[in-house]
Amino acid sequence: MVLLDVKGLSKSYQANITVLDDIQFQAKAGEFLSVIGPSGAGKSTLLRCLNRLIEADAGVITFDSKDIRELNRKELRKTRTDIGMVFQHYNLVPRLTVIENVLHGRFGYKSTLKGVLGIFTEEEKERAFYLLQKLGIEEHAYKRCDQLSGGQQQRVGICRALVQNPKLILCDEPIASLDPHSSKVIMDYLKLITEEMGITCIVNLHQVDVAQSYSDRVIGLNSGKLVFEGSPIQLTQSFISDVYGMDTKELITG
Ligand code: ADP
Repeated sequence: MVLLDVKGLSKSYQANITVLDDIQFQAKAGEFLSVIGPSGAGKSTLLRCLNRLIEADAGVITFDSKDIRELNRKELRKTRTDIGMVFQHYNLVPRLTVIENVLHGRFGYKSTLKGVLGIFTEEEKERAFYLLQKLGIEEHAYKRCDQLSGGQQQRVGICRALVQNPKLILCDEPIASLDPHSSKVIMDYLKLITEEMGITCIVNLHQVDVAQSYSDRVIGLNSGKLVFEGSPIQLTQSFISDVYGMDTKELITG
């Protein structure tokens, strides 16, 4: 089943500079998709257009049978509860505890007042603890987030996305600020848990080898154009050169 269908997506921040040019792709339910490309290719803009953190200029984004670009504010807020997001710099509230940050993922389901007052049901709290346990950080539940390592903070970020019960998770360079070991831990968790829960995952990545080892399918962007779409096996050296230009050796992290 197709969960996300993107057609003719274009975006410019300034006149005459096209950042996304007629992008077209689909993501199936439960699929793990990577978006690769050099810095400035448009990966982050693409991800943010999908949940309308950035408004696209043209195109149709159909998510779960809804035309995302046509939703009004209220409909968009509701639909966003189905789309979790994980950020490069985690976007946690540093002085709040781990469990409080995870429960922030429930805000989309609440009135502003209940959210501000931190009123969560027992079921929501149990789910949050369950997810912390799944991600191996339940012992840190009552620590302030700024006391955790980067890798642990990213696991909190993933729990916050998962507590929404999303159908889709968008991850914008989730491992770009982490060391190789923590990066592997995060990618392993993302893959394992989204697979187990049947969640579609779209991950922006710098490293080709990481994209190849974790993804069902890879999308390659260069200067806002989709220059590759296929399985990791189909991503040959020649396509990698199309995505990154000539010198691709430095992209392999080993
Ligand atoms: P990537 O994630 O692949 O590094 P981005 O989507 O962040 O690429 O950026 C694509 C292009 O759009 C870059 O040239 C960047 O400078 C430009 N860009 C990104 N955000 C903005 C913005 N808010 N205003 C103007 N230009 C932007």
